[in-house]
Amino acid sequence: MEGEGFRIKGLKARWILDSRGNPTLEVDVYLNSGAMGRASVPSGASRGRYEALEVRDGGKPFHGKGVSKAIVNIKEKVAPSIKGMNALKQSEIDWKMIELDGTENKSRLGANSILAVSLAVCRAAAEALKKPLYTYIHELFHGHRGENYILPLPLSNVFNAGKHGGGGLEIQEFMVAPVGAETFKEALRWTCEVYQTLRDQLVKKYGPLARNVGDEGGFSVPVKKVKDVLDALTASIEESGYLPKKDFMLAIDAAASEFYKHGKYSVESKELSLSELIDFYVELIDEYPVFSLEDPFDQDDWDGFIEITKRIGGRIQIVGDDHLVTNVKRLKESIERKSCNSLLLKVNQVGTLTEAMEAARLALNNNYSVIVSHRSGETEDSFISDLAVGLGTGQIKAGAPSRGERTAKYNRLLRIEEIIEKPVFAGFTRKNR
Ligand code: PEP
Ligand code: MG
Repeated sequence: MEGEGFRIKGLKARWILDSRGNPTLEVDVYLNSGAMGRASVPSGASRGRYEALEVRDGGKPFHGKGVSKAIVNIKEKVAPSIKGMNALKQSEIDWKMIELDGTENKSRLGANSILAVSLAVCRAAAEALKKPLYTYIHELFHGHRGENYILPLPLSNVFNAGKHGGGGLEIQEFMVAPVGAETFKEALRWTCEVYQTLRDQLVKKYGPLARNVGDEGGFSVPVKKVKDVLDALTASIEESGYLPKKDFMLAIDAAASEFYKHGKYSVESKELSLSELIDFYVELIDEYPVFSLEDPFDQDDWDGFIEITKRIGGRIQIVGDDHLVTNVKRLKESIERKSCNSLLLKVNQVGTLTEAMEAARLALNNNYSVIVSHRSGETEDSFISDLAVGLGTGQIKAGAPSRGERTAKYNRLLRIEEIIEKPVFAGFTRKNR
């Protein structure tokens, strides 16, 4: 196709619903060739203090969460400035929008407006090149054609608490990771079996209300102790015929900024100091096959992050989500101070694909693992599935294997695995047996 065909002809922006019934942005980018790319943006509940900001309307409609101002920003400011640009120049387009916004946290145009355009441009370019999205992302990120694509290990949030569920436990996410599976398809089947066994076990113990699920599709019964959840997960893995540690490992997202106040952490009705909280985590990691611990401390509790990384960073993944907010500046500081060893990559925390890729690159170059992640408020857009495969990070957080906005991501990965010639699944215990 002639270069002219890749130029941006126009944009359409609209609101659609996210999985919590809040409006969010969807953008269509049209190229001269007729190719079109569509993308929508997610929204978090346990948001980091340093995330790029969403522009919302305020006022009565949608309890203030309307996005009509963001739509106007796209129509009146973003569209005229990127019209005519070549969609293959992703970083030029992203930087144009960053400069147009001109603020540190994208508060003028909104990270939601900018991200929807950024992702839709990427899809339009892939569409115009007639390439699958993950292939195009691979080329953008690695600078060459992909040969061995890696299907990510799913960290599946089967028990929702904190801000995502009504059970009362402070620690937010309890995930199972099928590390012993040989393919993504097998990994997903195993995960579903454990998820359903867990439901049956919880219903037996807590009654029929235990079927209800939280924001990310995980169960959410009122438990008092973190160990009760980890015991339930281990029992479900075993009852499903799998081996904890060999077939499945566990992962936790504490989202500790949400239970931190005046230098103390309230967990299980106790007020813990930094060192008591470290001991609490170390005991869990000693007793259960946990390989990943996200946001164990408040986002600004550098001492806590540094101390826990020193203590157990050699054994497990210490993940920075609210702590790093997919932000290169915070990641650089983390690398210097050794505050964790893994980056949670959420495109909407930073607002453009280019900046998210920069963060991924910096992390990988410094031996940080990278987990591509959804948000608790999601749409059916499966961009992050292609992103995980394209970047080749080997891990994805996409919720429980239920609720359409979560299964959209998993189902896309099933299809990608089917198309790829020699897919490699990022499990890691099978080859060591
Ligand atoms: C998370 O904390 O990792 C998460 C996905 O939740 P939210 O989108 O609410 O920030
Ligand atoms: Mg998190």
